[in-house]
Amino acid sequence: MESSVASPLLDRLGRPVRDLRLSVTDRCNLRCRYCMPREVFGPEYAFLERDELLRFEELTRLARIFVGLGVRKLRLTGGEPLLRRDLPDLVAALSAIPAPTEDQPGLADLALTTNGVLLRRFAPALAEAGLRRITVSLDALDDATFRQLADTNAPVGTVLDGIVAAREAGLDPVKINCVLQRGVNDGRLEELAGWARDTGVTLRFIEFMDVGTTNGWLRDRMVPAAEVAERIAARWAIEPVEPTHHGEVAERYRYLDGAGEVGIIASVSRPFCGDCTRARLSAVGELYTCLFAARGTDLRALVRGGASDGELTAAVAAVWSARSDRASELRAEAGLSGPRVEMSYIGG
Ligand code: SAM
Ligand code: SF4
Ligand code: SF4
Repeated sequence: MESSVASPLLDRLGRPVRDLRLSVTDRCNLRCRYCMPREVFGPEYAFLERDELLRFEELTRLARIFVGLGVRKLRLTGGEPLLRRDLPDLVAALSAIPAPTEDQPGLADLALTTNGVLLRRFAPALAEAGLRRITVSLDALDDATFRQLADTNAPVGTVLDGIVAAREAGLDPVKINCVLQRGVNDGRLEELAGWARDTGVTLRFIEFMDVGTTNGWLRDRMVPAAEVAERIAARWAIEPVEPTHHGEVAERYRYLDGAGEVGIIASVSRPFCGDCTRARLSAVGELYTCLFAARGTDLRALVRGGASDGELTAAVAAVWSARSDRASELRAEAGLSGPRVEMSYIGG
């Protein structure tokens, strides 16, 4: 059942599996209101126990199975991945997966998404272990807005310093993800874009999404990609950049004065399900084929039940070949309803 580059595994809509997001914990040291509102994820919330989480050997084994089926890019996420103990050891194990060749699948990219709070402490060890790229989530530059959004007492300076530390460690260029919400931080769009231009980091604005069922999503709160692009263009001269690869989710614009690029991810207003090549593995080893899925397929039970590599490969291939998800396109047509998993559980 091993897929070669010549015959990729395709889902029912003809999409190959190319990216895998590995959630390494469901815990977080922030309580962003759009992701883990404190009223739901408070002191009483039952987070996963340590022995429920996939161990590093199990994660690495599954990652290799996915790479054998065509995955080229891994991204570690969560919850907050830097809370997972000894994370650099996992990075080292994953970065040892061989790169692709002309006729063999392999791992081309290993990245991590973090809120940046612990980055000063971990950036050097992560870089040394073989991490290639890092994305830091940052929705505001001032303490008051940052603290309100992330429901924390931590100063935003901790995250900004984490970004400096990542660059010092060689994890450069750093990408920044920013979710704009109308009436909350959208007034600071130009300030954020100006900061990214001056600092030399690549900023991507992401539309506020109705992931999970606890974040009180309202369509009016979402700032559409078209509006973001208009506002940037009103301040700086920009031109669209052609996608560099099939399935690229960010619409990219180049600043004509040479100050780099800015990206916009229009997940809600211009859904890109047709090109979605992304699988997600929760911290307990459930495979999800869509961010908006209600449930996943338990791969941990197979791993701990003694399945061979061939059996695991066949199980993953069966799930992917049966996939027909296109939730964001359906939302655009009829709206979303029914249960779906929380973002902090399967990773953004
Ligand atoms: N804790 C890490 C972080 O914040 O970068 C990694 C996990 S977090 C779930 C991954 C990404 O999901 C973050 O960039 C966050 O802004 C984004 N996110 C969470 N809830 C969202 C929502 N409702 N709409 C859009 N993006 C969201
Ligand atoms: Fe934590 Fe990231 Fe969710 Fe914020 S977006 S609560 S940092 S997991
Ligand atoms: Fe992919 Fe699901 Fe998002 Fe569509 S809604 S782009 S299928 S994760």
